[in-house]
Amino acid sequence: MDAELDALLRTRLAELDAAHRLRRLRPWHWGDGSLHDADGRALIDASSNDYLGLSQHPLVKARAAEWAERHGAGAPASRLVTGTRDITLALEQRLAEFKGCEAALLFSSGFQANATVIPALAKVGAGDTANAAAIFSDELNHASIIHGARFAKCNTEIFRHNDLDHLDELLGRHSANPGRKLILTESVFSMDGDRADLAALVQLAERHGAALYVDEAHASGVLGPQGRGLAAECGGVDVVMGTLGKAFGAFGAYIAGSRALIDWLVNRCAGFIYTTALPPAVLGAVDAALDLVPGMDAERAQLARNSQRLREMLAQRNYDTLGSSTQIIPAVIGSDADALAAARRLEEAGVLGVAIRPPTVPEGTSRLRFTLNSRLDEQGMQRLLDAVAASLPLRC
Ligand SMILES: *Cc1c(COP(=O)(O)O)cnc(C)c1O
Repeated sequence: MDAELDALLRTRLAELDAAHRLRRLRPWHWGDGSLHDADGRALIDASSNDYLGLSQHPLVKARAAEWAERHGAGAPASRLVTGTRDITLALEQRLAEFKGCEAALLFSSGFQANATVIPALAKVGAGDTANAAAIFSDELNHASIIHGARFAKCNTEIFRHNDLDHLDELLGRHSANPGRKLILTESVFSMDGDRADLAALVQLAERHGAALYVDEAHASGVLGPQGRGLAAECGGVDVVMGTLGKAFGAFGAYIAGSRALIDWLVNRCAGFIYTTALPPAVLGAVDAALDLVPGMDAERAQLARNSQRLREMLAQRNYDTLGSSTQIIPAVIGSDADALAAARRLEEAGVLGVAIRPPTVPEGTSRLRFTLNSRLDEQGMQRLLDAVAASLPLRC
């Protein structure tokens, strides 16, 4: 053990703690499909991304168990070795159809997909200056997208959040540059819960000869026709990334797009090539979720109603919800300490609504971030709203 390193780590951690920035892991129990704290107290879950409750769905759990029983617990090799099975390819075909794309490719996680697919795309023109890439990224994009853009090691421009005039201007500055241009955005932003205007982005991308990459982590399963996401609604998106650990209730992620795009990633994306394939239980869970998601319009409507009610109540109490129009609803508090105190009061009132602080969100915008789900019925929503009223004072 390097005592010096350990001492330095402890000093840094103490600094984070003093700044209300220390993060700690807490154990939660899921019993009977509901959330309990370490003392066994049941809490209303307003912080998970299990938007349709599929992680607890009997069919999803059963197929995960069945596929593990039938195909084994692990893959157990990378996809290009022996990690690809007939069930893997069939599932990718189903995902492609779900997203209305030619092909799809599974990844171990959304983080891994964004962090490694973006560099693989920037590499298309590597060694060929005429094709050197430039990246244009929304300032509120997820940390995994930022990782991908940095690792792509090409010219990266950050445009102001959802500001397409700013993006237009930045793209214009690169008009004399013959290289490939890649625009990166989320369709639903993970911390603000607002949406990108994909139809306008598709037009802008076409006008500037740029490709459009859209992260649908929070839209897949929840928004668009039959929950197929916002890219499916507008068409014209070149690269669609979706996750399977959120509304799909399972684990993993995928990229959907053209056959050539997927074939390129199979050949050149390190985060696909050098990692073990997803295990059969996960594939089974996703397969069952794909059976269910298109038919869950009633659950999606319930989720939209729940979200609308919470937004209205927060607005009445003068909390800024930052343009949220989805199941992700921020309530901006301001300081880290105040956001933490609000989360504690909320938890005492029986609701888990987690405080989000920098660097996840910009300085001075620490917030409670609610993520609702369709399993909250009338009674659950009433309890949630009562707890919010009791723990978030009226702001003036
Ligand atoms: C959660 C999330 C990811 C990462 O997905 P994982 O499968 O959890 O690694 C990527 N992008 C966005 C916008 C996310 O919210």
